[in-house]
Amino acid sequence: MSDFTFLQDQLDALAQQGLARSLRTVVSAQGPVIRLADEPGEKILFCSNNYLSLAADPRIGHAVAEAVRTWGYGAAASRLVSGTMELHRRLEHRFAAWLGKEAALLFSSGFAANEALLRTLPERGDLVLLDRMDHASLIDGATAGSARFRRYDRNDGSRLERLLAREGPRRRYIVTESVFSMDGDTPDLARLVELKRRHDAILILDEAHAIGCLGPTGAGLAEAAGLLDEIDIVVAPLGKALAASGAIVAGPRVVIDYLVNRARAFIYTTAPPPAHCAAVLAAMDIVQTEPERRHRLARNTERLRGRLAEMGLSAPGRMHIVPILLGSADRAVKISRDLLDRGYFVAAIRPPTVPPGTARLRVSVQADHTDDQIDGLCDALHKIVREEGCAGSL
Ligand SMILES: *Cc1c(COP(=O)(O)O)cnc(C)c1O
Repeated sequence: MSDFTFLQDQLDALAQQGLARSLRTVVSAQGPVIRLADEPGEKILFCSNNYLSLAADPRIGHAVAEAVRTWGYGAAASRLVSGTMELHRRLEHRFAAWLGKEAALLFSSGFAANEALLRTLPERGDLVLLDRMDHASLIDGATAGSARFRRYDRNDGSRLERLLAREGPRRRYIVTESVFSMDGDTPDLARLVELKRRHDAILILDEAHAIGCLGPTGAGLAEAAGLLDEIDIVVAPLGKALAASGAIVAGPRVVIDYLVNRARAFIYTTAPPPAHCAAVLAAMDIVQTEPERRHRLARNTERLRGRLAEMGLSAPGRMHIVPILLGSADRAVKISRDLLDRGYFVAAIRPPTVPPGTARLRVSVQADHTDDQIDGLCDALHKIVREEGCAGSL
């Protein structure tokens, strides 16, 4: 056996800082209530991205079973060889129409889509501007690509403008998420659109936490803001509210054709199973015809945020991701553990996922949470913080 103690040493160092991570196994279907391996009883789940509670919806399972009967399971090749099947095309057409774009392309994951987009499209001589809290996949794509990139703070009104005004770059890209995954807030999309127009930039919007959740038909933040036409390229990851996995990139036909020819994460990988597309199509049917799920999500978010405010716990943002800032990683881990013992599963989010000193509980709301479940979480949190004796620091 080779000697891997150099890795063990690093893991031990992480553990000492309270930053070691390990996997927890869920032994039930996903929903507002789950069971965990090695933990007694049921846990009320407040840290999934299953915002519309569709992950175990029987209609989606039924659509998958039907598709498997017709199409079998595997796609058996990459999309560019013999793996493009009718269901891939149907899903892409339907997404393009929903998002009001000329064309759309399915990727195996949101990570792959973002990485591919930012690695492939911007060229040497271009400038890519990323929000400081943009997802790791966007940062990795920009890092791997040949354009220069800079990061801006969405709360610093002038930095992005200064970066855009610089002479030199051939093309400028502005890249933002629509609901920030760790902060639960949204960018000022109207301002980004205005800047994009003024500086002739290309605007890329990652709707990971908004697709299905916001907008009259659930098409996301851009739809909610009436700005869908102004967004050049929309990324719609399918693993959150849409309850599957993979991601759609939607935009001008030429962008999609270019990705088909150049995006390594699209070209050199096996096509997703056709039944997977059937699952997403079924989820889209539900999202588009049951706006009441979005309304319940918004109502539950308001209830949770209202209760936290009453308790004096500050949770920035307005959206269904509710960050409760706790400072140190150790503290976040301890409170998360205490909550689990009381029957609530809320994972602690630590550096490097969030900046040092801003470890937090990232509470995420689902459409199918009940009032009792939400109130119960707040009461448990209140007790824990009171026992801890430092409510003032929250
Ligand atoms: C989850 C997420 C992704 C990655 O999507 P996956 O399909 O899970 O790989 C990309 N962007 C944001 C903002 C995300 O939250």
